[in-house]
Amino acid sequence: MCICGGCGKLIDKKFYYCPWCGKSRVVQEKDDSAELRYAKFKEKQFQKRYNQLEKMEEQLDSLEKELSILVLSAEMHK
Ligand SMILES: [Zn+2]
Repeated sequence: MCICGGCGKLIDKKFYYCPWCGKSRVVQEKDDSAELRYAKFKEKQFQKRYNQLEKMEEQLDSLEKELSILVLSAEMHK
């Protein structure tokens, strides 16, 4: 048995979540490295998304340039 960090009631060790208040016992007991790993994972995900956005912006930029060139050449051929 151990004590829940959320509500202070006794909970069986086999429970990963407190049956009384739902607080995760795993979160309570886990070491900081797991939390750090998760934070890094989230950061990586964010960075990935940010990079994708940057790439899309670059593609849009080049598309815009191509388009303006197309428009220019169309104007010239009028
Ligand atoms: Zn609890």
